[in-house]
Amino acid sequence: ALQVPDKQVESVCPFCGVGCQLSYNIRDNRILWIEGRDGPANQGRLCVKGRYGFDYAHHPQRLTQPLIRRAGVPKDPHAEMDPARVMEFFREASWDEALTLAGGKLRELRDRHGPQALAGFGSAKGSNEEAYLFQKLVRAGFGSNNVDHCTRLCHASSVAALLEGIGSGAVSNPVMDVAKAEVILLIGANPTVNHPVAATWMKNAVKNGTRLILMDPRKSDLARHAHRYLQFKPDTDVALLNALMHVIVHEGLVDEAFIASRTIGYEDLKANVEGYSPEAMAPICGIDAETLRDVARLYATAKASMILWGMGISQHVHGTDNARCLIALALMTGQIGRPGTGLHPLRGQNNVQGASDAGLIPMMYPDYQRVDAPGARERFERAWNMAPGTLAVQPGLTVVEVMHAIQAGTVRGMYIMGENPAMSDPDVNHARESLAALEHLVIQDIFFTETAYLADVILPASAFPEKTGTFTNTDRLVQLGRQAIDPPGDARQDLWIIQQIAQRLGLTWNYTDVSEVFDEMRGTMPSIGGITWERLEREHSVTYPCRHEGDPGEPVVFVDGFPREGGRGRFVPADIIPADERPDAAYPMVLITGRQLEHWHTGSMTRRASMLDAIEPDPVALVHPLDIEALGCKPGDVITIESRRGSVSLYARADDSSPRGSVFAPFCYYEAAANKLTNSALDPIGKIPEFKYCAVRVVPG
Ligand code: SF4
Repeated sequence: ALQVPDKQVESVCPFCGVGCQLSYNIRDNRILWIEGRDGPANQGRLCVKGRYGFDYAHHPQRLTQPLIRRAGVPKDPHAEMDPARVMEFFREASWDEALTLAGGKLRELRDRHGPQALAGFGSAKGSNEEAYLFQKLVRAGFGSNNVDHCTRLCHASSVAALLEGIGSGAVSNPVMDVAKAEVILLIGANPTVNHPVAATWMKNAVKNGTRLILMDPRKSDLARHAHRYLQFKPDTDVALLNALMHVIVHEGLVDEAFIASRTIGYEDLKANVEGYSPEAMAPICGIDAETLRDVARLYATAKASMILWGMGISQHVHGTDNARCLIALALMTGQIGRPGTGLHPLRGQNNVQGASDAGLIPMMYPDYQRVDAPGARERFERAWNMAPGTLAVQPGLTVVEVMHAIQAGTVRGMYIMGENPAMSDPDVNHARESLAALEHLVIQDIFFTETAYLADVILPASAFPEKTGTFTNTDRLVQLGRQAIDPPGDARQDLWIIQQIAQRLGLTWNYTDVSEVFDEMRGTMPSIGGITWERLEREHSVTYPCRHEGDPGEPVVFVDGFPREGGRGRFVPADIIPADERPDAAYPMVLITGRQLEHWHTGSMTRRASMLDAIEPDPVALVHPLDIEALGCKPGDVITIESRRGSVSLYARADDSSPRGSVFAPFCYYEAAANKLTNSALDPIGKIPEFKYCAVRVVPG
């Protein structure tokens, strides 16, 4: 019989950056079902994850008691983690014992080896307040800037290019602006899978006459709706985009007035693209010259053209260059600063925008104030009541750099909240060896993850529906998520746990409510200075920039110029840099990693959501049918993918959207962890690993 809820709680979806608002229907501290609310980003819509991916919160494998590694039990980085065996490796402890050990050992390492001996990873799945407090703990408590999170694996290169080119790392226009665009240029993104509700707005726009130009090596679902689909060769983004700019320059389609009044560096850009004619680039990117010309004209001459992109652009060693080209396209045509135009890197996690804004990155304080910029340290020392000269001015280590620093013996202790680098880092065999080599690893999570398996202390935390906090979506909407149920057993609120660790590091924090943390945070972040907690409770969401109370917020920015010197955007030319690891005779195919519709990131939540797991229960690789045939296999057969770093076995799924010679593997399956294969080579500027390209071979069985 249908159960009647005893309460309904308004919140937001915990998964992707679209930020759909939803209502939890609750009875007896259990979520019965979920409905979409009329939020600015979703207008009642939800995808399969948002609607059905909630019962992970009630899963019997939830951590409900602090755990401490049993004496003498070694950390084996190559053993496969089995949650059913957790008590073989760990014993239960009281909160006091666990926190005393967790914080005490971190303090001891800091005092004995200095601040650089510690690092922390926060989470884009946590709230803004958790991100803010976590980075404050690392900066004020550890004494270094060694704090990062999964933005490093996601859009760090896009943000680097955006900050450099237009002075702001966030989107210029919300997704909903696709309805006002005459042309949508979508590149390196598969929104149907990764941002499903956003994809529906794109399809609506197409129905109403907007022309969609889809550019991606994988022929995703939106190709069926596209006016032009360009299946360019993997790793040739800069060749393709420079060719488009070459056409725009040569055919006089640039916006001279915009370039003259709003930009710098155009002459350098123009000189650089001179060598990238469509005829010269066609054999490199695999798109014929006439199609390149046609697309360049469509984009440049439309009244309003909007660019959206995903990790197909960012996750390369030339990710920053890819994004620089997209920024240059918008600047040279003046397609920015108006409704239906602009630049929109589609954010992955539901709070990756907010966690970055809140300073969960090694080179920036909250609101992207560089740690080494004049006056920044002093501002935060004042805000945090710290003695002058206390905060570190040296930018910290990024996610992959931390793993190397552990191997080098520099970093000895870590505190990781809600991230799973043993699954999400590139070359996870190396990452797991690094985590196992730590003298002290503190994990704060809701499940016994692959990373927790290598911990010394595990602190049971709260799941998304168990906490109240703010979350910032891809559109710069700050939204209020409300607690709907209580954490199970003795699991605790993340804010409380962070504060307990801080106290054991000698910090005298005493926040009694999440709104107190929010108020302090907004005091350090001019961009959200006008967003009060009361307003969020009343309106549910407010867009930033919102600089003073009463400010309605700005969904479209750069109307009057860019937040750079003189208000001018900057062109930064880019040249072709090949992928770090090209196919060769030994490893002749290209591996592309990513997500599936039903599963989220490392799968720790969605693979424990019964409906989602029932739809996609087993590890699969998507391979072109002719490549499966060439292996002597049939769809559904087991295949093994091998790279220079590892191998995984999974089921071959026939998929003619994948180009021949490539294989696509989701990174959510612990039993076939795709990141055992990936390359940890980094974009030198954004420090993002090259998840979208490495050399592999595929064999039957
Ligand atoms: Fe959640 Fe994203 Fe799906 Fe919306 S589109 S319901 S935010 S996963």
